[in-house]
Amino acid sequence: MTDAPTVGESRCGLVALVGRPNVGKSTLLNRLVGQKISIVTPRPQTTRHTVNGVLSVAGAQVVFIDTPGLHEGGKQAINRYMNRAAAGALADADIIVVVVEARKLTEEDEAVFARVATAEAPVGLVINKVDRVREKVQLLPFIDALRQRGEFAFILPVSAETGEGCELLEQELIARMPVGEQLYPEDQVTNRSMRFIASELVREKLMTRLRDEIPYGITVEIERYDEGDSRTDIGAIIWVDRDSHKGIVIGKGGTMLRDVGSAARQELIRMLDRPVTLKLWVKVREGWADDENALHRFGYE
Ligand code: GDP
Repeated sequence: MTDAPTVGESRCGLVALVGRPNVGKSTLLNRLVGQKISIVTPRPQTTRHTVNGVLSVAGAQVVFIDTPGLHEGGKQAINRYMNRAAAGALADADIIVVVVEARKLTEEDEAVFARVATAEAPVGLVINKVDRVREKVQLLPFIDALRQRGEFAFILPVSAETGEGCELLEQELIARMPVGEQLYPEDQVTNRSMRFIASELVREKLMTRLRDEIPYGITVEIERYDEGDSRTDIGAIIWVDRDSHKGIVIGKGGTMLRDVGSAARQELIRMLDRPVTLKLWVKVREGWADDENALHRFGYE
């Protein structure tokens, strides 16, 4: 643990959140910064961008880099992109936080442990979703098993959903931040623009409504984002990578698209606290996920 700061000294550092898909990293990030900045869906691999979430308390700032899952398998350009983003986050972090799910260790978790074992930064372990464990003593053998997986700066059971244990986690992280100037203004919770968050919200609504493989072939491009005097006017293109998927995204008589648009709009109104118009179009660009130019255009850099 880093020494206590002297009076007037501020702390600031980077925390890389890593873990296999679906363990709850995005939910945890949103919980810690107190606002939804990273989309949450019941599907694995929804996080594609490195999102910086910022937690500011008196005299300290914790900057979270929510990394895309560490993908071993995929061979497309988008998988290479995601691997680069994740590796960069590990190298830059002051502390790495591995998130696992209570009582459920998979081979993918083991791969994550292997990956962080070679990193220079200390590694803390968070056991998420403990709200699902009724008797907490049931966690003890699981914690014992985890101790075999590496040298951990701390092991903390939390529930990103209920908030249980999250304050302790916050304290652990703040205590480990190096002395340094704050990177962001105190009222800023992310370095991502509202434009980006809007595109992610539309993608989230699509992902939770579409079945099977279609969601992974989707990306959302914000074409227009105008802050008018009285309302925010947003236009977005939903890109699909196959002609046959276009109709599915639009839905029978346009129902799917209307439903997605309405859900995303409601959430944008809540976040922006002002009226919002949201227009969605669906277009086809075959093979965009393996096309460097298309990835660049869609903001994967
Ligand atoms: P990520 O892929 O690691 O970023 O995971 P997400 O944050 O997208 O969460 C994956 C799923 O787990 C979503 O359905 C969440 O609602 C759910 N989830 C996340 N945290 C918790 C938790 O603490 N308790 C429970 N019961 N579910 C959670």
